[in-house]
Amino acid sequence: MTTTLESATQDTIFALSSGAGRTALAVVRVSGPAAGPALDRIAAPRPKPRFAAFRKLRHPNTGEEFDHALVLWFAGPNTETGEDMCELHLHGGRAVLTAAFAALSAIPGCRPAGPGEFARRAFENGKLDLTAAEGIIDLIDADTDAQRRQALRQASGELSQLYEGWRQELIGARALMESAIDFSDEADVSESAEKQALSEAARLAAEINDHLKDGRRGEIVREGFRIVLAGPPNVGKSSLMNALARRDVAIVSEEPGTTRDVLEVRLDLDGYMAIVADTAGLRDAAGAVEQEGIRRARNRAEEADLVLWIMDATAPMIEAPRDLASHHGRVLLILNKIDATSARRDTPADHAISARTGAGMPELIAAVGRIVREAAQGGETPAITQLRHRQQIEACLEALKTVSSSGTQGPELAAEQLRIAADALGRIVGRIDPEDVLDQVFARFCIGK
Ligand code: GDP
Repeated sequence: MTTTLESATQDTIFALSSGAGRTALAVVRVSGPAAGPALDRIAAPRPKPRFAAFRKLRHPNTGEEFDHALVLWFAGPNTETGEDMCELHLHGGRAVLTAAFAALSAIPGCRPAGPGEFARRAFENGKLDLTAAEGIIDLIDADTDAQRRQALRQASGELSQLYEGWRQELIGARALMESAIDFSDEADVSESAEKQALSEAARLAAEINDHLKDGRRGEIVREGFRIVLAGPPNVGKSSLMNALARRDVAIVSEEPGTTRDVLEVRLDLDGYMAIVADTAGLRDAAGAVEQEGIRRARNRAEEADLVLWIMDATAPMIEAPRDLASHHGRVLLILNKIDATSARRDTPADHAISARTGAGMPELIAAVGRIVREAAQGGETPAITQLRHRQQIEACLEALKTVSSSGTQGPELAAEQLRIAADALGRIVGRIDPEDVLDQVFARFCIGK
């Protein structure tokens, strides 16, 4: 084989696309120009396109039969990758797969696929943009219902259409701005084109600004709603964590300050993911290891969407530090250990519970569930789903703001800022594609996708 770049893209790739391990069926996908010839030699005769056929599969050189399987043939370019493709629905044993891979490797130009290589080819052949590809990864990774719904919408192009739509409008505004430059000796034409471009830019800036102010709901769905359990040592944070997870994840101990690090539990609250983190006691005087724990706890609390401040009903009440509440929208005050005292306390707690007996827990979980749902739901308008997108949208808005302020400084500067704004959106959908971003996105795929 030659080593030109062209021959590299002419490779035919294959991989196991279904789950690994001993399974009833294993789906092996093949994509590239040798997909058809591979079928001809391993599973002859090649079936009609898009129809499943039952075939005896043989090694192309030795002729030895290695499985009886359903095979499918898809002729490019109307396929997922845009190339010729075929699928072998094998029996899922390890030896069957080994034999199938050996058979495929014996076809000239065929080699095993790397992670995300099918999706990358789909992207390169214009079947998929980057945002939709990210939606597919999220769909594969989705654990909760809300994650699945959001990922499916993204995979089917909802966000791509929004960002690509804005990008096209920015390109239009830039063309207008450039015509203002071209007709600068005809004051009337030039002025009206510039005015129109500026008003377009202002309208888009307002729309994009609204989109940025989505309360992070898309990111909350995708990454989970972050809850931090905070409070002095020994109030029962670890015990509450255990009660929430109904399994032993946090170490419960009699000695103050044993939760030195941050532990996490992922909960599925009515289809939304919440990540509960237990933190070391937020105290001032402590040893070095403890100090580090406290630093992490503070960081964690600052990034949290909700803090549960735990108080001990059997001990003097320690209120939540004032700065804790100022960092984020919500702090719920939880009075724990109500089983251990009969004294009715006049505390400002939102919930009274016993992590030990479970009293008050259903009410607490229901209340937290409502808060998570409120944060994650936000009508039907699409939300930003990840930081990579948010950063580019912010860059876009930044450039658009300069457009309006540079209006007085002339159309050249404004046209350049409109280009910068459009490019930022182009980076989200992969129109402007630095290789490293593409590599990072597709590396998140598994082999076989
Ligand atoms: P943390 O330091 O805040 O994580 O507190 P722990 O969860 O380690 O609990 C400290 C002590 O309080 C342990 O001895 C727990 O068994 C006890 N404890 C925790 N929750 C309750 C509760 O609801 N009732 C009673 N009676 N004891 C509790």
